[in-house]
This record gives sequence, C-alpha cells and structure tokens, in this order.
Amino acid sequence: MQNDYDVIVIGGGPSGLMAAIAAGETNSRVLLVDKGNKLGRKLAISGGGRCNVTNRLPIDEIVKNIPGNGRFLYSAFSIFNNEDIIAFFEKLGVALKEEDHGRMFPASNRAQSVVDALLDRLEALNVKVLTNCPVRQIIFDGNRTSGVVLENGGKMAAKAVVTAVGGKSVPQTGSTGDGYPWAEQAGHTISELFPTEVPVTSDEAFIRGKTLQGLALRNVGVSVLTPKGKPLITHQMDMLFTHFGVSGPAVLRCSQFVVKAMKKWKLRNVVMAIDAIPDKNEEQVFQELSRQIKTDPKKTVKNNLKGLLPERYLLFLLERSGIDGHTPCSNVPHEKLRMLAGHIKHFQFQVNGTLPLEKAFVTGGGVSIKEIEPKTMASKPMPGLYFCGEVLDIYGYTGGYNITAALVTGRLAGLNAAAFALEN
Ligand SMILES: Cc1cc2nc3c(=O)[nH]c(=O)nc-3n(C[C@H](O)[C@H](O)[C@H](O)COP(=O)(O)OP(=O)(O)OC[C@H]3O[C@@H](n4cnc5c(N)ncnc54)[C@H](O)[C@@H]3O)c2cc1C
Repeated sequence: MQNDYDVIVIGGGPSGLMAAIAAGETNSRVLLVDKGNKLGRKLAISGGGRCNVTNRLPIDEIVKNIPGNGRFLYSAFSIFNNEDIIAFFEKLGVALKEEDHGRMFPASNRAQSVVDALLDRLEALNVKVLTNCPVRQIIFDGNRTSGVVLENGGKMAAKAVVTAVGGKSVPQTGSTGDGYPWAEQAGHTISELFPTEVPVTSDEAFIRGKTLQGLALRNVGVSVLTPKGKPLITHQMDMLFTHFGVSGPAVLRCSQFVVKAMKKWKLRNVVMAIDAIPDKNEEQVFQELSRQIKTDPKKTVKNNLKGLLPERYLLFLLERSGIDGHTPCSNVPHEKLRMLAGHIKHFQFQVNGTLPLEKAFVTGGGVSIKEIEPKTMASKPMPGLYFCGEVLDIYGYTGGYNITAALVTGRLAGLNAAAFALEN
C-alpha cells in the first residue's frame, strides 16, 4: 500500500475538517480525503449561506434541540462543547455574533470565512488534503481497521480511519450515504434513514388550488396531532404555505414527527394544526372578535378584522367559517364568530408526507449510537474505526445544532483516532 498515515479522515464537511484538525494538533500524520472538488460545501450553504456555526443556548437546551439522540452527546459536551467551538473559531480569527434563538454566525456574514479558517488551520498543521478523491471502501484486516481503498483502486494505509461522510441529504454537496455499507461491514447497525428538517406535503384542495401559496404566517403555533387529536409536538415559529404543502421553520421542525407518526400508526395522512394567535386562548380570541365587530357594525367583516391576521389567511378562515367577508359586522351570527375563533386557534389540515430525503436539510437515522463509545466516537465492534457527524444516528433542528454535533463529535473522533494510532 502507498502512503502510510496515522489517521485517514474520510469527508471534509464540518465533522471531518474538525477531526483532521484535532488529529493534526497531536502531530500525527493525517490525511483528509474528500470526493468533491472543494471542502465544506454543505457548511458553506448552511444558515442561508452565512454558516450557522453553532448555538449559544445552555447545554440542556442544545440537547433538547437535537431530538435525534441528543442525550448521547452529554459525554462529548463534557469534553468539548458549544462554548469551546466559539473559542476555537475566535482563536482562528473568526469573530462570531449571536442572533435570535442563540444562533451563532460569523460576524462577516460569510460562510466562506468559516471554511477558509478551517482550511488555513489544516495547512498550518501539515494535514495532507486530497480532493476529487472518492473513497470506495474501508479496509478491515482481520479484526482491525488498516486503511482505505480509493475509487481509482489506489490503497492508503492508516492505523485509524475516521468516517465523516455525512448523511444522504442534498447529495450534490457530496453526502450520498457512502458510509452506511462501510459501517455495516464493520459490524454496525444502521437505524432506518428518513428525511428531517424537510418541507411537508399535502393533498388538501386548498393546497392543490394554491389558495394560500406564498403566504407566510409569523410566530404561529404549528402542531402535529396524534390519531386521537392530541398534539405530538408543537413549535411556535414562522411557517409558509407552498404549492405542494407547508414549509418554514416551524414546519421543518415538525417534519420528523409527521414521518414518525405515519410510521408508528401506519397512517397515510396525518393531521397538522395551526394556532394563529398562540398567546390567547379560544375564549379570549372570541371575545376580541366580538368586541372588534361591535366597534363599527356597518363595516364589512373583512375590513373590520383586517388587522387581526394576514389578510389572505383571514379571508380563507372567514370562508371556512361560512362567513362572507363582505357581510356587515352586525349581520354575523355569534355561532359563526365562534367557529372563526376555533379556526384561528386550531385550523386543522391533512398532510401526507414530506419531500424526499435528498431534499431534506438533515438525514434522520444512521449509524446506531449504541455501538459508538460516547466519549471517543470509537466503533465498539471495530478497533481503529471512528465515526462523527451526520453519518451517525444523531439529528437536530436547524439552528446550528447539527453543525455543533458534527464539530463536537469530529473533535473527539480526531483526537481519539490519533491517540489510538500512537498507541498501536
Ligand atoms: C441547505 C442546508 C442548510 C443547513 N442549515 C443548517 C443550519 O442552519 N444549522 C444546522 O445545524 N445544520 C444545518 N444543515 C445541516 C448541516 O449542514 C449538516 O448536518 C452538516 O454539514 C453535517 O456535517 P458532516 O461533516 O457530518 O457531513 P457533510 O457536511 O455532509 O460532509 C460530508 C463530506 O464527505 C464527503 N464524502 C462523502 N462520501 C465520500 C466518499 N465516499 N469519499 C470521500 N469523501 C466523501 C462529501 O463530499 C462531503 O464533503 C444544513 C444543511 C443544508 C443542506
């Protein structure tokens, strides 16, 4: 085999870049290989192209925002956490700023400044980087990891290999799910893959008819309901109606619960609900509507209630409540006003799935965390093999949580792969 290394890191996303840097800092001979022509392609488009590099909420909150096995990260966070990520980047000369919900971005607002800082650090540490270099497989000799085979047939030997190839979402950034068969060969279980942080589809007539297409609702409560009508999850954020269903931050967060509900209860449709005025209860909304229409009984109801909700949504809910928007306020019966209050608080509609995994921001499922050492990211069944980032069965909401998980697990995988290589 050509070119001996202590550690080979496969994949140059946030987890692989961090793993290669951590291994490089131990003076090990490190190789980072990526199939793409550039490193950090997904990182560069995260956070709307500004790179949402981490999140500053307390650790317990970070864990809550990683509904896919976030608790597994407690051990890792005790060694390297979000504050360490912030300090790490500031040391590299990337000043960060905090935005809403604790989200941290480079002060430059340029994702490329984050990627460049990581690349500069790799160079300073003499980490060898090969791009346009897909790995075909990992070599397991007997019962230990001994290197990789490249797509062109070339072999590279190493004492430890870090698998940082990401999930299966947005494959044009290089993440095409290559790591799962390798993990299985090493004796790992792959938890079923599914799309998360993904727009939700609906076959409702008002969606097919594009009645609300393009309408954004601000700071509304969006829920996924169980078959018994109880909320399985609720997120209060913005949402958007699209030509195929619903999207926007609140819906993206709910999407994995749509997938899980369909699977758990073997459903073809799941009910979602929108609470357009989450800080008031239904009775308070009804009282406000009653008060409002009395202020000018001759005015049409649509003009009188205009300020209450975005106009298109108001007209839509008026129609659903059997109220003609042109009716003078004095002619609106009480029971219809009650119905309107009900729709404002919990307008329900059916959804029938999500866009496919390729279109999702994040891949749910992956290499089962039960077979990974939580403090080192080492494979339990295969000595010398390490995993980090989205290839693992760890998935968070957007908001810097996935990148935090990738950087933290990457740091541990790189450090411990290098330590393993030194010992052996
Ligand atoms: C549009 C978009 C926006 C996002 N916004 C956010 C956000 O705001 N907050 C958040 O927390 N998360 C966000 N995410 C998710 C986040 O970017 C990912 O979770 C994160 O990049 C995963 O890092 P990773 O290192 O595990 O894998 P990736 O970033 O996917 O990197 C994997 C790398 O491995 C390489 N590779 C794959 N197979 C091979 C192979 N066989 N040989 C060699 N190299 C290979 C790929 O080329 C790629 O460079 C967003 C994702 C997308 C798509």
